[in-house]
Amino acid sequence: MSELTYAFSEGNKDLREVLGGKGANLCEMTNLGLPVPQGFVISTIACRQYLTENILTDHLINEIKNRVQTLEAQTEKTFGTGTNPLLVSVRSGAKFSMPGMMDTILNLGLNDDTVQAVAAKTQNLNFAYQCYRRLIQMFGDVVFEIDIKHFNQAFETLETEKGYPAADFQKADWLDVIARYKEIFAANAGQDFPQNVYDQMLIAVEAVFKSWNNDRAKVYRQLHNIPEDLGTAVNIQRMVFGNYSETSGTGVMFTRNPVNGTAALFGEYLSKAQGEDIVSGARTPDPIADLEAKLPAIYQQLTEIATKLENHYKDMQDVEFTVEDGKLFMLQTRNGKRTPKAAVTIAYDLFQEKRISETEMILRIEPGMIDHLLHPNFQEDELANHTAIAKGLPASPGAAAGQIVFTAEDAKAATQNGKKVILLRNETSPEDIVGMTVSEAIITSHGGMTSHAAVVARGMGTCCVVGCQDLHVDEDQKVAKYNGGALYEGDLISVDGTSGKIYLGQLATTAEEISEKLNDILDICDKHARLMVRGNAETPKDIREAITKGAQGIGLARTEHMFFKPARLKAMRQLILADNDDEITDALRFIKGEQKGDFEDMYDVLLDRPGTIRLLDPPLHEFLPSDKGELKQLAAEIGKDAATVADKARALAEVNPMLGLRGVRLAVVLPQIYQMQVEAIMEAAIAVSKRKHITITPEIMIPLTGTVEEMAMAKQLCVDTATKVLADANISLNYEIGTMIENPRACIIADALAKDADFFSFGTNDLTQLTYGYSRDDAHKFLPTYLDKHLLPHDPFQVLDTQGVGTLIKMAATNGKAANKQLKVGVCGEVGGEPRSIRFLNTLPIDYVSCSPYRVPQARLICAISEI
Ligand code: ADP
Ligand code: MG
Ligand code: MG
Repeated sequence: MSELTYAFSEGNKDLREVLGGKGANLCEMTNLGLPVPQGFVISTIACRQYLTENILTDHLINEIKNRVQTLEAQTEKTFGTGTNPLLVSVRSGAKFSMPGMMDTILNLGLNDDTVQAVAAKTQNLNFAYQCYRRLIQMFGDVVFEIDIKHFNQAFETLETEKGYPAADFQKADWLDVIARYKEIFAANAGQDFPQNVYDQMLIAVEAVFKSWNNDRAKVYRQLHNIPEDLGTAVNIQRMVFGNYSETSGTGVMFTRNPVNGTAALFGEYLSKAQGEDIVSGARTPDPIADLEAKLPAIYQQLTEIATKLENHYKDMQDVEFTVEDGKLFMLQTRNGKRTPKAAVTIAYDLFQEKRISETEMILRIEPGMIDHLLHPNFQEDELANHTAIAKGLPASPGAAAGQIVFTAEDAKAATQNGKKVILLRNETSPEDIVGMTVSEAIITSHGGMTSHAAVVARGMGTCCVVGCQDLHVDEDQKVAKYNGGALYEGDLISVDGTSGKIYLGQLATTAEEISEKLNDILDICDKHARLMVRGNAETPKDIREAITKGAQGIGLARTEHMFFKPARLKAMRQLILADNDDEITDALRFIKGEQKGDFEDMYDVLLDRPGTIRLLDPPLHEFLPSDKGELKQLAAEIGKDAATVADKARALAEVNPMLGLRGVRLAVVLPQIYQMQVEAIMEAAIAVSKRKHITITPEIMIPLTGTVEEMAMAKQLCVDTATKVLADANISLNYEIGTMIENPRACIIADALAKDADFFSFGTNDLTQLTYGYSRDDAHKFLPTYLDKHLLPHDPFQVLDTQGVGTLIKMAATNGKAANKQLKVGVCGEVGGEPRSIRFLNTLPIDYVSCSPYRVPQARLICAISEI
């Protein structure tokens, strides 16, 4: 067998590389015994040869001629001559389906003689000449890029001149048509329409080969990472005619519904039509179901073929077929494109039908689909009909519409009046948390993918766009200017958290819920996964959400948000501004009561699932107002001298707060806060354990440690406090104390730290910031340029930097576990939910990843895929 050409009976579906997708599947269907019109494939090897030599070799030409002779024998027709002429289609088809490649030519083999033979044989002059005019026009269009409107206009003119429609044309009329068509062809192509049918074929083949290198195809390959040197195959196939009679037609069919996945044939059928008519949209096709009444035997046969193809390909198929005079022919099959929703349903059903295995089912779900399934999206046509006024970073997916507000307070007030709002700010800070919670979406003009707004919004599953520099926000004047206009309070806008685009007005959305089938698939995923998945959450609502989405516990409960309710904030400020121990004790007593309540609420939902609670982390000054007026007011409220308060605030202000008095350093400088928090945690755990008859094991986490000494000190503080609470309650309860590993030094001395820790949790946001020395809050100013210039493969705050940060995590996890066999190791932080990062983390000695609740399902899927 030659490598240059393959008869359909000689190839198979595994030869896509050589035969292209279309050709390989035509071969496969032929060998399955399906009714495929005979033909042969000119391979990609022949194409590659042509592309280097720029000429069709005699060897190839001879082979093609031999193949045509075989085809003549099989079909009992003759090419370019005789009473029963052979007509063929010439169809391109590369390994990957590629728009940009040359279009199909139908009816090749017709010329001034054969058209008459076809007319005589079929007793249908009209049919024969319609096919002929089509060939000239398609050949002109596809090979010589002659605009088909020239042909169509000429045709219409002739119809008008003659005064009757084409259906009534006589031979003389048709000869006029063909003469006119030939003129147009010659004028535009610079050569006559070839009457020699082998010339037709070889010119067409050459044109397909050349089309591999046209601009459209090149651009498409670049965009989709398709190698440049694959080449395309050409399929030569005997024509079947859907335009032949009343019991003829053409159709496309999906073996299942590609929109929602239901197991029913889906598609369209156009009677008395040839291939392209159905896609051209000139006539409206009928739903495939209508065939059941119209051509019952054909419908039955299609149903059986659908089953056979699915059994064979183990996936939903997208097929093209033609009915010629009551006889069915299959012209193409391939795995069908589908919506995420349909993908889930189809994979699950195919598994239930025992057509695919558990792991095959899992691999059919693309991680990116899950995001789509869990968030509402704007309708496609709505997006097409609107132009975005601004674009930022897509920090948290979703589609939201609402009225603009510029402050968290306004957000709260407006929602209390029943309005839906979108919070638009330069940036957000922890004190905006309430306003953020009630907003449909959050937009900031500054900040990157791990800015406060981004992290919090993702955690809440709220649509969010950050770093939207197209908007110039003036929070005081309550206006945001953009190129071409301005947004004022109350203006209605729509926010696409998936693309980062902002639109005027309200765009219609589609809402999707996590389906039972997806739930079942994810449960199966858990069986295959090694890494467990936890959620980052602290409010009962978010914890519940994480658990519903399948989290096995909480990997990071941040306690600082609990301090921002007004009464607490006031107490916190009192504490920070205290002049003596009594004031500190008073403030702490109040906060502790509140915190204990919070932790009880938390454990009420979490029950005895594992839950890591991080002690206070942010710099203290974040709790003080930044504005002078507010500081004054605060001083009055807590009965202190305004000047002293201003002095204290100034003293607390830091040039570089991220590297300042925060994390474990708070325990060193102000041990009372951690002490209070540990008391609240332990007391809450005791209370809920008793109330629910369960055994809660609190996991207390000390943030940002970097030295063995500070870790030992902080741990001792926690142990002493917990011991005292347990002794006072006269109860015994296990608890664990661990640390967040988020600075490089901690990674380097991990073995020593592990001796004092029950668990490690890698905080990848800070660890990335400190490893690169990139400020999380400023990196958006230069990271895009780095990405443009290919100096970084991706934003390391979004996708784990495996080379640097990843190596640190690997070293620390390995050394930590070596030093302490019991050490539990997890990764929290943004990359804990990101597919490529999880795949890498799965190769390290860690036990779980923890991410925002909405990302939990995707993480469960990736953890399984990583192990398959
Ligand atoms: P595309 O890749 O654009 O779908 P195809 O090669 O599949 O191009 O062909 C375009 C149309 O022509 C399809 O509807 C196909 O079914 C039809 N077609 C192709 N070859 C034949 C043939 N030999 N007989 C009848 N119709 C054909
Ligand atoms: Mg096709
Ligand atoms: Mg941190």
